[in-house]
Amino acid sequence: MTTQDLARIPAAKPEISEADIEAAVRVLRSGMVVQGPEVKAFEEEFAPVTGAAHCVAVNSGTSALHLSLLALGLGPGDEVIVPSFTFAATANAVRLVGAEPVFADIRRDSFNLDPAAVEALVGPRTAAIMPVHLYGLPADLVTLTAIADRHGLAIVEDAAQAHGAAIGDRPVGSWGKAGCFSFYPTKNMHSLEGGMVSTDDAELARQLRLLRNQGMEQRYANEVVGTNTRLTDVAAAIGRSQLQRLHGWTEQRRANAAALDAGLAEIDGVVVPLVGEGLRHVYHQYTIRVPHDRDAVSAKLTELGIGNAVYYPTPVHRLSPFLADGAPDPRWDLPETERAAAEALSLPVHPALGESDIDRIVGSVAAAVGSRA
Ligand SMILES: *Cc1c(COP(=O)(O)O)cnc(C)c1O
Repeated sequence: MTTQDLARIPAAKPEISEADIEAAVRVLRSGMVVQGPEVKAFEEEFAPVTGAAHCVAVNSGTSALHLSLLALGLGPGDEVIVPSFTFAATANAVRLVGAEPVFADIRRDSFNLDPAAVEALVGPRTAAIMPVHLYGLPADLVTLTAIADRHGLAIVEDAAQAHGAAIGDRPVGSWGKAGCFSFYPTKNMHSLEGGMVSTDDAELARQLRLLRNQGMEQRYANEVVGTNTRLTDVAAAIGRSQLQRLHGWTEQRRANAAALDAGLAEIDGVVVPLVGEGLRHVYHQYTIRVPHDRDAVSAKLTELGIGNAVYYPTPVHRLSPFLADGAPDPRWDLPETERAAAEALSLPVHPALGESDIDRIVGSVAAAVGSRA
């Protein structure tokens, strides 16, 4: 059999089951489709995943980040320390409230914020730190929390890729003032589009509820300037249906990652994902490093029918909205970020993979790395 006979293994495979469809149809038939009882139930059911006391559902992960910063009162004159090796939404949220993102470097062993780099950037304007749990691996919240406490800063967790990830037995989303999740179709679970903020602070939760609904708790008694970033009950019903399968999917992702680790660890020229002691990685992505000629390996894998992707080829501080006078701001010294952008390569790890798919991925990576020389 040639590779042409084999089906392509996709990089990601959004799930929509009959149960999800039935849940959506049930709400559509009820006629009560806007934010209502399904959203409330989704918030209550998702809270245990985050370990926080309150959850507030919104229409996207980006809105979760944006409203969290608004609710914390951040705005012009404030700086927020973020990684540059992330999806642009993290830094966009900072800019959307009028604050300035300050880009800190990451660690070579985790792709996540380097706490020492973060602390070196704390200044008089610093108001918050926004760690990203990239690819589903928790950032070092133990050290970052100590830094935040020392300097009186808020932590807003970008947990958009990390539903159910944990440090010890404490889930991500319960460490910062707020945790922000995304339910975009390629994330570990979805509601078509959607997001959630987790928090232990009842007053912050109230502010978030106001901000997502034009500043209203009572209709037409607007208290603050707000947005319309509500989730629909149709989306919430899909999210609730998906949530029932989240744990099983996560275990399957973790098992797939373990099988990939076992197969790939022996290949010269490939560095498998490192997971620190006590961290629960939920493998939104399974991301290897290919230190030599990553793009050739990526192209060869595509040729062999193995979906793969580079998250993220351009660090955020190099994207045009974040340039200073057309060039990266010379304040940012991010060698590990640049290295990661050149080396990172994500392979399929989604729960729909079978054992033969894993074997094929491992064999194809060996062939792709071997064929470069
Ligand atoms: C997906 C994602 C977001 C944004 O979530 P949306 O639901 O797409 O708005 C934010 N941050 C990170 C790291 C993400 O991966």
